[in-house]
Amino acid sequence: MSHAEPTLSGRTALVTGSTSGIGLAIARALAAEGAHIMLNGFGDPAEIEHIRASLAQTQGARVGHSGADMSKPLEIRAMVERTEDELGGLDILVNNAGIQHVAPIATFPPEQWERVIAINLSGPFYAIQAAIPALRRATYGRIVNIASAHGLVASADKSAYVAAKHGLLGLTKTAAIELAADGVTVNAICPGWVLTPLVQRQLDARAEREGRPVAEVTHAFLAEKQPLAAFSTAESIAAMVVFLCGPAAATITGAALSVDGGWTAR
Ligand code: NAD
Repeated sequence: MSHAEPTLSGRTALVTGSTSGIGLAIARALAAEGAHIMLNGFGDPAEIEHIRASLAQTQGARVGHSGADMSKPLEIRAMVERTEDELGGLDILVNNAGIQHVAPIATFPPEQWERVIAINLSGPFYAIQAAIPALRRATYGRIVNIASAHGLVASADKSAYVAAKHGLLGLTKTAAIELAADGVTVNAICPGWVLTPLVQRQLDARAEREGRPVAEVTHAFLAEKQPLAAFSTAESIAAMVVFLCGPAAATITGAALSVDGGWTAR
């Protein structure tokens, strides 16, 4: 995708969890609009370097990668500082990194509870805290938190994820109020099903458990939750991020925007 006039030229964006899935699509879309990008996330080093180099060719963006673990506050702070040092500032923070663990509360492993809360909720808190000085200096700041339909409603067996995503919406609203005077907007996007490795793992596990083909399970999986029984694309979530970073969204703050095929309309 290339534009005659990129809308985010010269802006700098840190996108957590951007080596895969939704985060990668967000990084690509922001780079296509001219933003410099700090990638973050795990994966094969050669693959990550390939992603970094291909993004750097888009609109001449400067692109770095930080392997900071979003469950480690000190690593998060160092990543934010590196973004400012290497890319010349920080205007846009997208808290996207997230993990899932599926088990009933009665048998939910405590270490998985701690890990999901650390990465999906505490990580965004520490990233926002570390980014505040740079975002204030920018006098145009954008924070976008990738929450979930599970930030608004619950499903069985996802206690930690549902609690973390509900918490992330609370954090979004609080940060929106605290940063409004600095011209920084803070919003959350609440996707329904998007076919990424995170969801594919859940589909494969269910197909195995129920002894049914993945295609059959996939249809049931969608139809159970969404009136529009189709996946949203990672690119459609990314387009919403680009919109929230643009001038038309200047007065949208503290919002939870659903892209969920009608999941939460029920
Ligand atoms: P994914 O598994 O494809 O990607 C997750 C990314 O986070 C990867 O880049 C991974 O390396 C990174 N990551 C994982 N743990 C990390 C850690 N400790 N530190 C740093 N990076 C880490 O997942 P996805 O489906 O693209 O999910 C992205 C976000 O969207 C998550 O917050 C998820 O909860 C949310 N979401 C996804 C869906 C969906 O249907 N896929 C729906 C609603 C919300």
